[in-house]
Amino acid sequence: MKGLIFSVKRYCVHDGPGIRVTVFMKGCQLRCMWCHNPEGILPLQESFVNTCSIGDNKFCKSEQAGIFYSADEIIAILDRERVFMDNSGGGVTFSGGEPMLQIDFLCDVLKACKKEGYHTAIDTSGYAPTSSFKSIIPLTDLFLFDIKHLDNEKHMQATGVTNGLILENYKLLLQSGAEIALRLPVIQGFNDDPDYVERLIQFIVATKTESLKLINLLPFHTTGSSKYGRFTIPNRMEGLTPPSKQQIENIRKMMLVTGIKVKTGG
Ligand code: SF4
Repeated sequence: MKGLIFSVKRYCVHDGPGIRVTVFMKGCQLRCMWCHNPEGILPLQESFVNTCSIGDNKFCKSEQAGIFYSADEIIAILDRERVFMDNSGGGVTFSGGEPMLQIDFLCDVLKACKKEGYHTAIDTSGYAPTSSFKSIIPLTDLFLFDIKHLDNEKHMQATGVTNGLILENYKLLLQSGAEIALRLPVIQGFNDDPDYVERLIQFIVATKTESLKLINLLPFHTTGSSKYGRFTIPNRMEGLTPPSKQQIENIRKMMLVTGIKVKTGG
């Protein structure tokens, strides 16, 4: 069995503890307005033309988003980076796109990682069958779990899907004993006003268990906007502006009342 992967990045420091290899898996059912990985959304191989400049000269080259890897091929990549991961308390993170959509491959590769002693993390939107989460809980050391909005209608407008399944899966993980870093994208005019933040805090406090170890605030950024022209997914980032440092700091301070460590960035 092979998994469809659009990027494997080494030396990542924002996708879990220590130095990590992050494996970006293709396919996602959401269409978040702020998504900076348009190449990861469609669950198929895509060809595109990449333009780069050196001085005044422009070069075009044909590239492919999406290569099939086996679990053994992923382990071979990890083995080359083992010294960095071991010395830093790092490991491997499966991200995307949405890694949970390739659940059979994900189970295979996670089993192989655990057999080799690697720390495993899953970066997920939470929008996947609950049975899939149940199947990987024993193989996953840390879930990086996104909550984008508690209001169903707003969630639907900004991501294209409802939030019921996501909140159900979040509560399942909270009860499972798995470690969770709750990731909160901060998008101006969508989920950054103090009344909403207060509501979110109440939700976090009412549901928290020992599993919840960290809250990551992820300020919107425009990196990735230029990639949209290469793919068929429409760019919905236009009109969004990054929150100011002060806004993020205000939210970070408000979040401290949850009693959970709060970090800006991944
Ligand atoms: S869940 Fe992540 S990968 Fe999927 S559309 Fe949203 S930001 Fe992009």
